Amino acid sequence: MSGHVLVINAGSSSLKYSLVDAKTGEAAATGLVERIGEEQSHHVHHGPTGDFDDDQAVADHEAALEAAVRAFETHGPALADVDIVAVGHRVVHGGDRFAAPALVDDELIAAVTDLVPLAPLHNPANLEGIEVARRLLPDLPHVAVFDTAFHQTLPPYAYTYAVPSSWQDEYGIRRYGFHGTSHSFVSGQAAGLLGRKLEDLNLIVLHLGNGCSATAVRGGKSVDTSMGLTPLEGLVMGTRSGDLDPAIHGHLARVAGRSAEETDRALNSESGLKGLTGANDFREVSRRRAAGDERAQLGFDIYCYRLRKYIGAYYAVLGRVDAIVFTAGVGQHSAEVRAAALSDLESLGIHLDPVRNADPTDQIASTEDSAVAVLVIPTNEEWEIARQALDVVRR
Ligand code: AMP
Repeated sequence: MSGHVLVINAGSSSLKYSLVDAKTGEAAATGLVERIGEEQSHHVHHGPTGDFDDDQAVADHEAALEAAVRAFETHGPALADVDIVAVGHRVVHGGDRFAAPALVDDELIAAVTDLVPLAPLHNPANLEGIEVARRLLPDLPHVAVFDTAFHQTLPPYAYTYAVPSSWQDEYGIRRYGFHGTSHSFVSGQAAGLLGRKLEDLNLIVLHLGNGCSATAVRGGKSVDTSMGLTPLEGLVMGTRSGDLDPAIHGHLARVAGRSAEETDRALNSESGLKGLTGANDFREVSRRRAAGDERAQLGFDIYCYRLRKYIGAYYAVLGRVDAIVFTAGVGQHSAEVRAAALSDLESLGIHLDPVRNADPTDQIASTEDSAVAVLVIPTNEEWEIARQALDVVRR
């Protein structure tokens, strides 16, 4: 096997990995170690000989990666039999330092460490993943692929908040945007599906998973995106509020004595669909809505209304839209969200085909004469990370 990249996504208590053929996107094996540091961890490895499960305690990220390496040896494919060209690491926040993937060296580690205040939950875990992988796989080049990098093409008037300008210089306060690997991957796939050059296309890409973001893509470059300094801004998400009045923080501090941390936590973990309906999983919201639950109906309406507002905003940003692309769990699977977000927009040239939209095997959800194509494209962030890592090592 040649041209493979070991893709690593290290979270605070998890380590996800995938051995990906950078040319075809095919995964020779994937795995996940969860509940790292707890009494009972969970490790699942899907390899060529089937699935393997283990519930032994895994103390830290180093032990998690050791367990992954052992799983490759025992359940395949043996890493020695694979021509691994790089290890690709997902890194959430690259700030304005990284507009492209980069080879990991001590300088990069120092730069990502400097960015920890911007992503206190994610960057430390990503760094931990990089450091243990460098120790355990020292002979391979390691590449960092940043979630924010794709959005470094935003113009200043799209990334600057209307706050005292010193805040940007002193504290890095500006829009960065996230889900960049997904938006980038899906944009390329959309061009392939339409049989047109990415450089000629204006796209609105909607990544609707547990986290949700919208991006306006002109000629393959992100020109605006809904997530901001952090992944909290923008669309309604599983547990995150998305846009709200920034005065809410101060108001809650005054009337309820809530600290900034408490409000932050509530807006990140107890809001969005969970706060509105009691369920953060979209399938559960759909079930409750179908059973006549009024909170679920309102949550669904708010979710789709926010989406519609962003589609309208990005339509105006781009001037001409060739395609609206839906991806990630909800975007890919929920015909009802696509229908609600795009209903009655024929005057904008958006004509959804109800039959095609409801067909899970059809990647085109619009009518043939729709000026704006509506596409449903599965994302594949691991493949995009593998491709970008390969580009860096082949440069
Ligand atoms: P992701 O973060 O891309 O894994 O997406 C997770 C979200 O997608 C969760 O809210 C799931 O409930 C939702 N999802 C997954 N499958 C479906 C489905 N068949 N229909 C509706 N939502 C789904």
